[in-house]
Amino acid sequence: MLLGILKESAPAETRVALLPASLKSLIAQGAAIQVEAGAGEAAGASDQAYIDVGAAIISDRASILANADVLPVVNAPTTADQAQLKPGAAVIGFLRPLDAPAALLPAIQRGVTLFSMELVPRITRAQSMDALSSMATVAGYKAVIAAADRLPRMFPMLMTAAGTVPPAKVFVIGAGVAGLQAIATARRLGGVVEAYDVRAAAGEQVRSLGAKFLDVDLGGINTEGGGGYAAELTEEALDRGRDLIVKTAAHSDVIVTTALVPGRPAPRLIRRAAVEAMRPGSVLVDLAAPAGGNCELTKPGVTQEINGVILLAPLNLPAEVPADASNLYSRNVVNFLGLIVKKGELSVDLADEVLAGACVAHQGKPVNPRVAKLLEPQPVAGSQ
Ligand code: NAD
Repeated sequence: MLLGILKESAPAETRVALLPASLKSLIAQGAAIQVEAGAGEAAGASDQAYIDVGAAIISDRASILANADVLPVVNAPTTADQAQLKPGAAVIGFLRPLDAPAALLPAIQRGVTLFSMELVPRITRAQSMDALSSMATVAGYKAVIAAADRLPRMFPMLMTAAGTVPPAKVFVIGAGVAGLQAIATARRLGGVVEAYDVRAAAGEQVRSLGAKFLDVDLGGINTEGGGGYAAELTEEALDRGRDLIVKTAAHSDVIVTTALVPGRPAPRLIRRAAVEAMRPGSVLVDLAAPAGGNCELTKPGVTQEINGVILLAPLNLPAEVPADASNLYSRNVVNFLGLIVKKGELSVDLADEVLAGACVAHQGKPVNPRVAKLLEPQPVAGSQ
């Protein structure tokens, strides 16, 4: 079995799917590993480091694409790359199967088996493969660091001979994996932190990190959508959150917003009025930007200044922490590979619930029902 590691081609991508330290167990099982030259460089892994663990460095990307039986990636391969893949090969990565399913058609039609890290079920057995949580952890940390860097104030309270410097006030919206890491990071820097989430269960986790949980009376509606995720709320329930956000924004130096509902556009929680309520020099980091953003003024990928407030809308913060983001992702991938590589050979058994959950396509057909539905031909307007 040949396992290939490509240099990621997406703009500004710095991560690599597998670092040298993760390859040892695969090589011990007899797998051959080819790494595209320079694949790990931006993440701190030199070609020599791959050679030292027994991998081969190859400059010819096309030859890796054509010969690899297993291809772990960070981002989905481009159309041109997919057209070169070996039929029957397996690709594992953040393939965005629900956001951009049609982009995967060339690989599906070639009979490539696609596994999406976004679809790995969030069950206890698969926790070590939960790459979404790994990347959310990195993004939550980096969002606070980016805000601290832009803020014209310091985070900690300081008592000096020249007087007292008040602590930065940080407001975190959405206390899931990214939000909790943002809270922890802001607290470590000495900020005073408040947080809001629609899931009541988040309250205890927020308080355990030394932050204040802001409760909103949502009228007793169900806010849990299953699997620990939030449900999509009515406009009326969203409005109650929006009111709290305007009030809290007025005394916040930094807002980090992370609210998401799986498979839906990010809830629009932050209206223009909330941004206008913030003091000039304040910083708002919209981590929901890849899903459209929590703030109605967000332009995904663009940094704006609005009435002196800096609005950051990063699309790929984990790529700004490439070594640790790759390290965590690499471990998630190698744990996933443990389910499909047996004794050094590729062996896919979709009876395994983790594999069935993560599988996008197998043997030329979409396996995931949501992806299959999205790929159904759309009726032509006006036809019967
Ligand atoms: P996510 O990225 O989908 O959402 C981020 C946060 O936004 C969530 O906490 C959600 O409740 C919140 N949110 C959604 N709509 C909101 C709104 N209108 N207003 C305010 N907040 C809103 O979620 P996530 O961070 O990936 O995970 C959420 C939870 O899932 C975790 O905290 C954890 O309890 C659970 N989880 C379980 C596992 C596992 O069992 N393996 C793994 C990861 C996460």
